[in-house]
Amino acid sequence: MRLILVGPPGAGKGTQATRLVAEHGIPQLSTGDMLRAAVAAGTPIGLEAKAVMDAGGLVSDEIVVGIIRDRIAEPDAQKGFILDGFPRTLAQAEALREMLAGKGIGLDAVIELRVDQSKLVSRIMNRAEETKAAGLPVRKDDDPEVFKQRLEAYNQDTAAVIPYYESNGLLTVIDGMQSIDAVTAAIADVLSKLDESVEVR
Ligand code: AMP
Repeated sequence: MRLILVGPPGAGKGTQATRLVAEHGIPQLSTGDMLRAAVAAGTPIGLEAKAVMDAGGLVSDEIVVGIIRDRIAEPDAQKGFILDGFPRTLAQAEALREMLAGKGIGLDAVIELRVDQSKLVSRIMNRAEETKAAGLPVRKDDDPEVFKQRLEAYNQDTAAVIPYYESNGLLTVIDGMQSIDAVTAAIADVLSKLDESVEVR
């Protein structure tokens, strides 16, 4: 099963992707996680990406497409994957389509977690507080001002991938303002209705 979760920052993509990993045994490919690891390791990509990420902007298509190209070639991604935070631009969506077509495969579903953006800032502040309370480091880009920039990047660039996937019939919209469990159930329902030829494990 090859699936994309799309939605603004704070919509719950990461939470749902973690649950899908446990349920289906396929990896979550989060470009945000991969970039944060590159920053932490001080690799050339990390050094290039850090300032953009700290400001809430988008890292270049070239870098993230390269990261995804390498990642989906790994053995654990051969039976499927959940993309979380990629594609974030139309150019990334098109690069992904070409990349998969080159392997003779395609996507099975794109799920948009649709949320009320006016509620996202408080949601992200809660996430930061919970993380802090758990004794874990808080993401620098969860600062309210940087978060607003990330939301702007979503509305300016990423929102365009939604009509792109709608036009090729892959998109399903789910109400991301429901409880976490209700969103999980709604996603499970979508996946259970996928074409029988798709392997849902
Ligand atoms: P995320 O964890 O998905 O919210 O990503 C954190 C940050 O990493 C974003 O605000 C961007 O700066 C960068 N990033 C992650 N994925 C992408 C992508 N597909 N394209 C461009 N920048 C990305």
